[in-house]
This record gives sequence, C-alpha cells and structure tokens, in this order.
Amino acid sequence: MSRYVLVTDYTLLTNFRGVPLATFFSCLPTDYAVSRLVFRILAAPPELDARGQPVRIPYGLRKIESDLVNRVGRDDVVIADPRNMQRFITEDTEVVGLHTMDPLGLGPVSMSFTMGGTLTPYTKAMFLEMMAQVNHRPGRKYKVVLGGPGAWHFDYRPEMQQSLGIDTIVHGECDHLATDIFEQVARGDAPPVMRFTNATAPTPEQVPKILGPTMNAMNEVMRGCGRGCAFCEVTLRKSRYFPLDYIGDEIAWNTRYGSDSIQLHSDDIFLYKLENWRTMEPNEDAVKELFQYVMDRPGVRHCYPTHGTVSAAVTNPGLIEDLSTIVRAGPDKWVGIQSGIETGSPKLSREVLHRKAAPFSPEEWPDIVVQATEILNRNYWYPAYTIILGLPGETSEDAWMTVDLIDRMEQIPNNHFITAPLTFVPIGILRGEEFYNLDTMIDEARFNVAYRAWRHILMEVDTNLSRMTKLPPPVRAVIVATGRLGGRYIQKFMLKYARQRGFRIREPAKTRRQAEGHVVSFPAA
Ligand code: SF4
Repeated sequence: MSRYVLVTDYTLLTNFRGVPLATFFSCLPTDYAVSRLVFRILAAPPELDARGQPVRIPYGLRKIESDLVNRVGRDDVVIADPRNMQRFITEDTEVVGLHTMDPLGLGPVSMSFTMGGTLTPYTKAMFLEMMAQVNHRPGRKYKVVLGGPGAWHFDYRPEMQQSLGIDTIVHGECDHLATDIFEQVARGDAPPVMRFTNATAPTPEQVPKILGPTMNAMNEVMRGCGRGCAFCEVTLRKSRYFPLDYIGDEIAWNTRYGSDSIQLHSDDIFLYKLENWRTMEPNEDAVKELFQYVMDRPGVRHCYPTHGTVSAAVTNPGLIEDLSTIVRAGPDKWVGIQSGIETGSPKLSREVLHRKAAPFSPEEWPDIVVQATEILNRNYWYPAYTIILGLPGETSEDAWMTVDLIDRMEQIPNNHFITAPLTFVPIGILRGEEFYNLDTMIDEARFNVAYRAWRHILMEVDTNLSRMTKLPPPVRAVIVATGRLGGRYIQKFMLKYARQRGFRIREPAKTRRQAEGHVVSFPAA
C-alpha cells in the first residue's frame, strides 16, 4: 500500500558479479548470440530482501527515496523490482517514479557498442521492458514521472514521452524537491517537462542523506567540476563538497550491509575542496583527509574514486603516492579510476577540453596523459580511459594523433589501463551539435582509434582479468573465458567491417607487453 513506487531498470540493479568495469556490458547489443551469452553470464540478478525489494539501488534513486520518506513517511514509499513491479503497485499508488541512466540507448557507450544506435543495447531493451510493466494495467490511474542522468535522451526523442506514457520528465538536480515534484505530478498539475538549474540546485546541507545501501557501495563526496570540457554536463553544475561527517553517515549504510570497498562518487576527485582555481592544483590536505577519513570508518577495507582528471597526477605525484599508502594499494590491490583522455590532438584539446590539462597548456595534453599513466600505474592505480570519436572539428589528422597516443601509452613499462572508445554525443555546451554517425562519419583514422582501443582492452582481458576478478576459481574461469570470447568476437567483427570499408589497420609497434614475452595474439587483419 504505497502512494509512491520507485523503480529502475535491471541493468542498474545488477552488480555484474563484481567484475571490474563490467558495468559497461549493460550497453552490449541484444542482437547477437555472443553478446546475449556474455550478458546472461555476467548480469547476476539483484539481491532481494524478504519483501522482494532490491537491497541495493542506484545512489541517485536513494536520494529521491530519502526526500520522500523524510516528508511523507516510510509506509508511503516502496522500491520495486522491475521484473514484477505490478506486485508493488496498489489501488493507492499515485505516482511511479523512474530512475534512468541510458533509457533510449543514446549514451556514448551504447552508441559506440551499437553501431551508432542501429542495434539495441541492453540498457534500452530493459528500460522498455520496465515500461511495459509500468503500463501493464489498462486505464491505469497512477501517474509516471521520469528522472535521473538519462532524462536528456527525451530531448532528442520527444515523441517517446507520450508513446511510453510518461507524464512528466524531470531534468537537473532536485533531490531536495522530490516530494514537491511527486505531489505536483500526483495532482496532475505538473508540466510535461520540468527543468531545474543551478539557481535551485541544493546546497550540501539541503541534500537528504541516503536511507539504505547503494549499488557498488557508491557514496557521493562532491558535485561539479569546473575544468570546462565542452561536451560535459557536469561542468555546467556549480561545485559543492560534502563534509566528512555527512559522507561517514552515508558510508555506514553500505558497511552495515556488508560492503567493505567504498566507491567515492566524484566528478573529479582531485578537485575535492579545491582552493586554487587558477592552477587547479589539488588541495592535497583535503583530498588525503577525505581518503583517510573513509578508510578509518568501521568496516571499510578499501575505497576508490569514480572519476578524476590525470593532470593532477602530474602536478602532484606525491599525492597519488600518499593516497596509495592510505588505501594500502599494492600489486594485489589496485585503485580503479575513470578518466577522460578524449583525444590525442593538441588542437582539439585547446578547442574542446579547455582546462582539462591545467595548470599545463592544452597543447601539452598528450604528454600529460602519458606521464600521468606512468605515475598512476607505478602507484597501483588502474585508469579506465574514455576516448571520444568524432568531437566537433576532429580531422583525420587529429584521430591519427589519438592512435599515436595509444601507441605511446602502450610503451610504458608494466602499463595497465583500459581505453573505451565512445562516439560523440552532443550534450554540455555542445547540445544541438550533430550526434556522431558511425556509418557516415567514420574514416580510416577514426576506425584505427576504435580498433586500437579495443585491441588494448583485449590485451588487458588476456593478461589481467583473471588476476583482478575476485570470485571463486570456477566462476572466475567462466568469466575470463567469456571475456576472451566476447572480446575476440568484437575484434573479428571490427576487422570484417574494416575489410568491407577498405580501411587499413595501422599495426602498432610491438607493445612493451609483447616484448616482455607475454602471449598476446590477435587475428590478422
Ligand atoms: S574534467 Fe571530466 S567532469 Fe570535468 S568538465 Fe571535463 S569531462 Fe566533465
């Protein structure tokens, strides 16, 4: 009997068996037997409590839940399992709230995995399955509101809102206003689209604390960035930092439910409590204090940030070393971090990445990436880099520079990193620009960027996946075999595509790993 039912799709509720970076697999296409096999093996069902509700849910949805529970009471708010959500909807239900990340498969990873949207990623397929459940009752009386980081997809596919029966779509930060929005939607006087800007963004004190554990034990430590990349929504937000006791209270929810490895959600962890906005050099004391505080929480054994920019590793290599000491990183315990390389072109760095290289000049960006990778790896940090294909103004020459950059990174001794090639998606201040269309915009140089990035991923799967997957040996063996099979399948597919388009593959120099005698074999072009 709940007025408000909250739900998100299956891809945001599976922990992918704890395999590092496997969340990317939620964007695999549903169209091929191999990708269906990989997804079926990796995407473990969510853990449910005695009432059949998911135990861990996305951090953003927990925030909405908190505001509702704080203001209308626990009995009126329920989290549903998307596979049988009609069980959770009653005659009293007034609003179903949907949390989305990639509802229509337009996100950069999906667009990259699905040939620019010509295939259907699991994210989209499972969102549509969830919508079928939401609309299951003919003549339903409850209203439907949608929000979350994927709400922008409906700006590009506005016709889908009505066809999916979504009454209101909410954009922007509104965790502190969730109850007002739900009440307005329930009364039927909410507009079809609501947009919240920096003017109404909450202060840290206004953001309600979570009331339960989160997916991947995620806890937020800051919002906003300020480096100014033109394609990024985050940089449009004002910067705010959550105080340590706030973070500690939220972490306690995750440790209470058995998580000992905490993910610190940050748009750029090295900018936590930044003071020097001119140089953007980290506030070392504040960042170290944060990590030490988190490691000192009862039940915490490890912590790692979600995102960070590599320039900080070059300006403050001692900070990386100290953080490794604090989290007790070592050969068997690496610190994962997602970071954007985006391009190896100095010209595009100046035009699009703006202050990503600061305090260095934008033109120094490729050198900074190479130096930072060496520093991070030396201190047991494992960067998962993104590369964007088709940034506005990108020429073939720019794309070849990105290939050169991957070449240089592969020459770093004992290198460990992932390079995920993403296609350009027009968000941030580049909203309104064209989506990158794989079929019409790909050329030999851009194909080589994508190919070389995938080739490196496969190399990491071959040499590191087994070591980094903390699962019982038989399960691990299946996961590793699946990863190798899936990786090779994608690579063969790419090579076939290259032959059809007449693209030549620029063979890299023998990588350091091959020179050191590791067996790394690739199919011939
Ligand atoms: S550094 Fe990252 S978070 Fe900051 S503006 Fe650039 S892409 Fe966005």
